[in-house]
Amino acid sequence: MTGTRLGCIADDFTGATDLAGLLARSGVRVSLRIGMPQAPPSDTSPFEVIALKSRTAPVEDAVAQALSALRWLQAAGATRFFWKYCSTFDCTAEGNIGPVAEALMDALGADQTIYCPAFPENGRSIFMGNLFVGQQPLAESPMKDHPLTPMRDSNLMRLLTPQVTRPVGLIDRLSVAKGPDAIRAALAEHTSQGNAHIVVDAVANEDLRDIAAACRDLPLMTGGSAVAMPLPALYQSDGLLTADAPRMTAPQTAADTIILSGSCSAMTNAQVAAYRATGAPCYQLDPLTLVNTGQAPVLEWLAAQDLAQAPLIYATADPASVKAAQKKLGVAETGALIEDTLAACALGARDAGARRVIVAGGETSGAVTKALSVAQLDIGAEIVPGVPWTYCKSEGHQIALALKSGNFGSEDFFTRAQTQLETP
Ligand code: ADP
Repeated sequence: MTGTRLGCIADDFTGATDLAGLLARSGVRVSLRIGMPQAPPSDTSPFEVIALKSRTAPVEDAVAQALSALRWLQAAGATRFFWKYCSTFDCTAEGNIGPVAEALMDALGADQTIYCPAFPENGRSIFMGNLFVGQQPLAESPMKDHPLTPMRDSNLMRLLTPQVTRPVGLIDRLSVAKGPDAIRAALAEHTSQGNAHIVVDAVANEDLRDIAAACRDLPLMTGGSAVAMPLPALYQSDGLLTADAPRMTAPQTAADTIILSGSCSAMTNAQVAAYRATGAPCYQLDPLTLVNTGQAPVLEWLAAQDLAQAPLIYATADPASVKAAQKKLGVAETGALIEDTLAACALGARDAGARRVIVAGGETSGAVTKALSVAQLDIGAEIVPGVPWTYCKSEGHQIALALKSGNFGSEDFFTRAQTQLETP
């Protein structure tokens, strides 16, 4: 059987990658589209994920983006949909989690959906409608100080109610623990009471498995990535995905590699230090020098490198250096200067034959995929949890791309990513 089975809409890029990686653990082909696809569906996969950038967009924008993603996914053949947001329920007072869910429900004629951001493996659990980060309630966790979406309430019903027009309900852990039939009965009870938006408790993977089993036929599910993880196996047992469903086979890519690091997180600093210690060729970009010299010196250095040695170009620096550059050049200006330069390096390396590209930094990844004109990624094996190898075409070249945001990965990430790809 072909065609898209599940259409997923994610409110940011790294969240989309996380969801795509978990679905891809099934071995079934998963495609990730970066931004709203510009062309009608073609070369579609059983699982399609569209990465929007709508988490903090104005509500009307976020709703419009999600509805156009929905139409594209419907055209791809999907009849079931998943609205993916952060496992810490990142949103503003106005939205966009609730308004988008309600708009998708209206478009689908759905009278009910569930909200389950729990991700027990990563310490996100929900009990009596309250979200916990590790042992802390959400509102006492570091999320309370997030620069864009400070979370000052841990209760998902209270967070959701002002965002939607229809009533909110809860299926608590006591019902969830009784299994899929009890969850289905609780959903039906909520329907009879007119409750449309149902928060569902989950504290363990078994809860998510039962919730997914009970909700797999809903036109729309919403949540973090973890509650979607059981869906491929459930679809297989339902016959929605047959044995001949397209599977992911990693294409071979030539071994020449470039590593580009624009993240300044603590883990990325450690990863750069560990990679430098291997003796691999490394070039440090300093924004205060770069602003005077332009990109020519780094591009010349790159052109002289043997890409079989997997050179690293990095702007990664400690917080004091970052602050000093930002003070002198401006925050946005420094970011753009580095991102533009690393994007130019990605293009230069591709044109010199690099077919494996490893990138550190969320924004940096955005700049690099844009420069390489990458619109679609096929999701391969995970290098570390949350960071899979992905495969794409750039100007007709088959490229393997690893996109690592901020603090992900272990210290040996740059080496580990390379050793995971077999040399053709
Ligand atoms: P992360 O995923 O760790 O947040 P991002 O790539 O999203 O990484 O963000 C890092 C930002 O810091 C980018 O805009 C990048 O251009 C910028 N940056 C990188 N190096 C420096 C530096 N040395 N000084 C100032 N800003 C930098």
